[in-house]
Amino acid sequence: MSDIVYLNGEYMPLSEARIPVLDRGFIFGDGVYEVIPVYSRNPFRLPEHLARFRRSHDAIRLANPFSDEEWTGLVDELIARNAGEDQSIYLQVTRGVAKRDHAFPSNTQPTVFGMSNLLTTPAKEAIENGVAAITANDFRWLKCDVKSTSLLGNCLLRQAAADAGALEVVMFRDGHLTEGSSSNVFVVADDTIFAPPKDNLVLPGITYDVVIELAQRHRLPCRIGPVSEEAVRNADEIWVTSSTKEVLAVTTLDGRPVGNGKPGPVFRRMHQLYQEFKRTVMRQAA
Ligand code: PLP
Repeated sequence: MSDIVYLNGEYMPLSEARIPVLDRGFIFGDGVYEVIPVYSRNPFRLPEHLARFRRSHDAIRLANPFSDEEWTGLVDELIARNAGEDQSIYLQVTRGVAKRDHAFPSNTQPTVFGMSNLLTTPAKEAIENGVAAITANDFRWLKCDVKSTSLLGNCLLRQAAADAGALEVVMFRDGHLTEGSSSNVFVVADDTIFAPPKDNLVLPGITYDVVIELAQRHRLPCRIGPVSEEAVRNADEIWVTSSTKEVLAVTTLDGRPVGNGKPGPVFRRMHQLYQEFKRTVMRQAA
């Protein structure tokens, strides 16, 4: 857990960070956030994360309190003040403190918070054997492209997976794949990678973009478009991707094996490409 956090202009020990109970983040989940992986003390894809953060602010009509340069300075400072070569930087902005009323308050200062956690990427065992997932109906709202702190739907779905001893939940809406509770989902059939489009029903994952860029660069067949529930259930491979999970193979879905029940060859290639890409980017940043 973070030793030193940022709260409203100050760096302080986590144990000293306090917000008033009327903060709209606490009362309504009225805020947006970002999670940025840090490898060897270098933030990965920071401009892309900050661009998504800007879009999240715009989507909820919240003025972004900082420029990208200022956010970059804050991220660098959090990395410097916390231990760990590999960290996960969490940034959150809420609409601030105001008398409880659903309509937006006028002239309220946003609450700005940042912390660092140690980055725990998947264990070797999970990479080599894959993980379990369950399926569920995606009952969340229709603005899943916004990285909002209102995550109750995602929490309920993730807990359903945890109750079933699974790592993630693969969701369907109207017969089509959307995403996981905290990851994007890809499938492979006949050596082709399929991904749902980045519309309002999924979070536009930064890792999703990296995976698609790598597939294109290395000429792995890849198609972006609606993926039917049937296609997922009959897939040779299923992957989940996120900044902290990177690329992970799902090897059982609702207790049944995916393909032959082992991480498939396209996953193994993509996992290798992702690790190489990460190392190259970090070497350039160092
Ligand atoms: N989808 C959801 C709902 C998420 O919460 C996340 C990340 O936490 C992702 C997808 C993956 O996004 P990223 O690759 O930017 O971490």
